[in-house]
Amino acid sequence: MTDADLAALAAHHGTPTYVLDLDDVRARLAELRAAFPDAHVHYAAKANGHPAVLRALAERGAGVEAITEGELRAAAAAGVPGSALLLGGPGQDAAARAAARELGVALVSLDGRAQAAAWRAEPGPLPRFLVRVHPQLDPATHPHLATGAMGSKFGVTPAVAAALARDLAEVGRLAGFHVHVGSMIADPRTYDALLAVLDPLFDAVPEARVANLGGGFAVPGADLPAVAARVVPWVRRRGLELRLEPGRFLVADAGTLLTRVLWRKEPGETGGRTHWICDAGMTHYARHALYGAEPPIRGVGTLRGRPATGDVDGPACENGDRLGTDRTLAADAGDLLAVGRAGAYGAAMASTYTAAPRPAEVVIDGGVARLARRRETPADLAARDA
Ligand SMILES: *Cc1c(COP(=O)(O)O)cnc(C)c1O
Repeated sequence: MTDADLAALAAHHGTPTYVLDLDDVRARLAELRAAFPDAHVHYAAKANGHPAVLRALAERGAGVEAITEGELRAAAAAGVPGSALLLGGPGQDAAARAAARELGVALVSLDGRAQAAAWRAEPGPLPRFLVRVHPQLDPATHPHLATGAMGSKFGVTPAVAAALARDLAEVGRLAGFHVHVGSMIADPRTYDALLAVLDPLFDAVPEARVANLGGGFAVPGADLPAVAARVVPWVRRRGLELRLEPGRFLVADAGTLLTRVLWRKEPGETGGRTHWICDAGMTHYARHALYGAEPPIRGVGTLRGRPATGDVDGPACENGDRLGTDRTLAADAGDLLAVGRAGAYGAAMASTYTAAPRPAEVVIDGGVARLARRRETPADLAARDA
């Protein structure tokens, strides 16, 4: 997208608006498959569950990792067959289990003993199970993303995982082990540590044939060839079936959030800093408030202000309501900004906090843009109230 294209989209659809280029998503999938030619890919739908994304990936044979009934049904509606669906997640409530059975979900990742018992207590055929291992590592990442670190709620210890896997193998329902070590993993050596945890488990339970190594590839910064150089020979040597669950890697770079500057506040007004108050903030893009994310932000077209360094803030009454810290921009009120790498955990995490309608979403496919989700309206928000 050129700046002129982005400006035209903002003029036509208003702001804040998410723009997502499906060709970019397809290119990332091809890149992933080039690095891991034998892997089954289950796209983590929570990164961006828009049906256009699910369809584009399904058309290319990718599966989906879902954690709710809603994600399972959206994936099925987008054309993902049950054989390519994987249900995971620490919640996995009765509605998700029922939908998984109905849709013939091939693989379910169990997050604990009680979940295993719940599946086995319910009537109906059982799927094949992965046991999610808590690797108790300390991946060098933000604590909220370090799902494999000590103290996180995910998975069970290797000892419990082995016992649970043996129980499942006895009833012929064991597929293998699952681990998702965290998100934004940039250091390929994390996978050495991960394989060191998994290796003895596959030794201990020879019926385990599937190794699901989760997602978490950093954007930017993932070195897929370096990860593959560790993982692929291990998988081949053990004769395992590799599964991967990337979310961010497939969609982050494909997305842009367009936001307009509402007001520029000068350092003299606020006690020292320039603040650009934009029409998008934590309500529309939660990643700064949640994880301290600092996405790339640039002006679109010619900006009208003098250059300054300051914070790109949102419109809500929260200190954490921010898009970017210490940015140098020449933006003034009315100028358009593009928040990059916004395709993952952007629109998917938008809320209606402050009764702000959720943004419009534009999808570009083969260079052609279309409104793929209309902007919410105050009437939409009121419609649920009694
Ligand atoms: C969130 C999640 C993913 C995807 O993580 P990314 O960082 O977006 O790649 C994959 N697997 C599981 C179990 C997850 O919770």
